[in-house]
Amino acid sequence: MISSAEQKMQFLFSLRSCGVTNKRVLTAMENIDRRNYISDTFADNAYEDTPLPIGCGQTISQPSIVAIMTEALDVQARDKVLEIGTGSGYQAAILSQLARRVYTVDRHSQLTMAARKVFENQDIPNITAFTADGSKGLPDQEPFDRIIVTAASEDTPSTLLAQLRPGGIMVLPVGQSDTMQTLVKIKKTDQGLEHQELRTVRFVPLIEGLGKTYG
Ligand code: SAH
Repeated sequence: MISSAEQKMQFLFSLRSCGVTNKRVLTAMENIDRRNYISDTFADNAYEDTPLPIGCGQTISQPSIVAIMTEALDVQARDKVLEIGTGSGYQAAILSQLARRVYTVDRHSQLTMAARKVFENQDIPNITAFTADGSKGLPDQEPFDRIIVTAASEDTPSTLLAQLRPGGIMVLPVGQSDTMQTLVKIKKTDQGLEHQELRTVRFVPLIEGLGKTYG
């Protein structure tokens, strides 16, 4: 049995070995303990590079994908960031280390409530979690410097693009398939939208409307 300190070292090593080199991103991921965002059932798997169930039929993403998406988002210290798909709150917590303020939205109230509790316990003051249909963005708080979507849609939601500030960046998985999508980085410039395809990923789908309540 290896110790949790060794597991954490291996965890950070695996992030570096998947090509993530940005120091601010690696430090943020070092500061946020993934163990706090998963249930006791999966405690032994906390530092493995794998998605894990978090209830409501959803999963916390694979840490290497969280790192790759965070690096691609290129968050600046004064940024206001919108995340669609709070899930466990892990990705939002990492963004909170890099940005001025993070708004995060999930369609399952159980997930947003649980995430709020963790943010409070971990003394993270700059995240606001809402239960809402994120495919509509967050009209009350727009525009955003950065938008990250952690659920897959068939096309880039134009409503979200409209809520992105000029010069802003959006990172999201896009694809027709349930099992495989392309991670896309979009930059909004004065000349139009710049698209960059980063890699293949596998995310749960972005579903319109609020989620049902799980007992
Ligand atoms: N970022 C999360 C993992 C996201 S899993 C983490 O760090 O743990 C994808 C999440 O997107 C799920 O929790 C799912 O409920 C949510 N989701 C799917 N469609 C949505 C929608 N239209 N609006 C808001 N959240 C949505």
